[in-house]
Amino acid sequence: MIAIVLAESCTPAQHQQVLSAVQFTGSGLRAHTPHLLSLSGDLDRVTAALDGLSQVREVTAVPSGCPRAARLAGRDATTPVWVQDVEIGGPGFVVVAGPCSVENRHQMLTTAQEVRACGAHLIRAGAFKPRTSPYGFQGLGDAGLGLLAEARERTGLPLVSEVVDVRDVERVARAVDMVQVGARNMQNYPLLREVGRLRMPVLLKRGLAATLDEWLLAAEYVLDGGNDQVVLCERGIRTFEPGYRFTLDLAAVVVLKERTHLPVIVDPSHAAGLRGRVVPLALAAAAVGADGIIVETHHDPSVALCDAAQALPSSELAGLMDRLESAVASAGRFLRRSPGDRALAPVSGA
Ligand code: PEP
Ligand code: MN
Repeated sequence: MIAIVLAESCTPAQHQQVLSAVQFTGSGLRAHTPHLLSLSGDLDRVTAALDGLSQVREVTAVPSGCPRAARLAGRDATTPVWVQDVEIGGPGFVVVAGPCSVENRHQMLTTAQEVRACGAHLIRAGAFKPRTSPYGFQGLGDAGLGLLAEARERTGLPLVSEVVDVRDVERVARAVDMVQVGARNMQNYPLLREVGRLRMPVLLKRGLAATLDEWLLAAEYVLDGGNDQVVLCERGIRTFEPGYRFTLDLAAVVVLKERTHLPVIVDPSHAAGLRGRVVPLALAAAAVGADGIIVETHHDPSVALCDAAQALPSSELAGLMDRLESAVASAGRFLRRSPGDRALAPVSGA
């Protein structure tokens, strides 16, 4: 695929002039935005057809076929995504933390307050859970969304939560600040299309066995719907190695930084599978240049209904935040520790 980038100042007439110039040089010509076109064809032929047109900024091959997700020259390295007042992909490293799933009011509110007290920036927790076994805890559903809203009200922190079904997209989107598409749904194209209709941040996790191209094309589905607020999340892939839950592919972070302008965060928890392995993987993610991490924490992992073995108790989240500071600095970024330490009222009536 070939991408054609036009100048910001390009007029509709100049845009039309470009379309006419290239219409017979390839197939599948598309105008994604007023400044970005793509088509399939021969790069030299397309370049020659556009020779001398001053409104053309760049004509380039896009190897993975994702013109919207690709990092084209002339574009900033990373396009930040704002989740309320939290910038992902800017100079600050972002920490998302919280339980795997919303289990009950006491668990959700206590964990949320601990997450805030440790200085993390966003709360995660699933109300709808994609479980491998149909007999596993499937989440509280709409009741869970209600508890998430309460957690946000008490802490002031924005929420990230997963949607697993096209029929739930609107309700989840209304309740949270960032919608997560999980690994098992990375290639659920109707779901990606639906999430592409939203105008809010989306966290797109890598599929269990997805290549970088497949992952970027999944992001392209969301972007193609006009939702340009996509953050990628590396969470480990299935390999031949049975010694841990998934193989955390940190090389993916480095390569994605070359290939896409979308922010990239890392989930060390689902790769590690055991809490003792989460902190070193999180530090490594910061050191390779990830824009943030998403970690599972629980106020009492011994009673967690989902992914208990990998949940960090909150005392360890504070320690992780301390240790992240130097890893984040080594990658040229900073870690904001606010609002942090402010004591909140104890959870009552739970
Ligand atoms: C999760 O974040 O709880 C989750 C289910 O993650 P993944 O989709 O990466 O398995
Ligand atoms: Mn989980």
